[in-house]
Amino acid sequence: MLRVGRILHGTTAEGPGRRTAVWVQGCSIRCPDCINPHLFTTRGGYDASCAEIVTGAAVAHCEGITLLGGEPFDQPSGCADLAAAAQDAGLGVIVFTGYVHEDLARRGEQERRLLAHIDCLVDGPYQAANPETRRALVGSTNQRFLHLTDRYRDYDPALAKNTVDVRINPDGTIEVAGFLEHSQLDALSTPLGKRPRQHRRL
Ligand code: SF4
Repeated sequence: MLRVGRILHGTTAEGPGRRTAVWVQGCSIRCPDCINPHLFTTRGGYDASCAEIVTGAAVAHCEGITLLGGEPFDQPSGCADLAAAAQDAGLGVIVFTGYVHEDLARRGEQERRLLAHIDCLVDGPYQAANPETRRALVGSTNQRFLHLTDRYRDYDPALAKNTVDVRINPDGTIEVAGFLEHSQLDALSTPLGKRPRQHRRL
């Protein structure tokens, strides 16, 4: 089981190919200016089973899953179970973390188990003072793409483009995934008449 804020199947805005994005609930790092402060608390969100997430990814014809946050390494056991189940099903695994790999490798058994089931780790905290303007998927220049397997080694974030996934739900709520500046989010809100609920990467 995993505490999640949101799951989005079939998005192309959260990494190479068609993916299931899982925003975990809870982040103890709390980078200044994080765009997802509603994911800081561990009291929000809902419980989701790993089997349910992997089945949803298969039904949506996804190539892989992306774990982001919130902070996946604040739930290392649940995220390790999910990453292992995803790889068993043939899915690739990308994880965004605000910690750095060198620290994670020293932390504990569950952290190392999660690392063992990641194909590409994007590490480092969001630093608003060092905005990234060249590479896709990351918000600041300190963040690294670490290929722990060969699966995504050909993916070059400097050649890729950031994309945005906008979905209007049957109840009229709007959800946005991908990379949008606050001003772009506001511009989207005006014609739609509602402020979208956004989860994005940093
Ligand atoms: S950017 Fe990521 S690690 Fe930093 S506070 Fe936000 S969710 Fe946590």
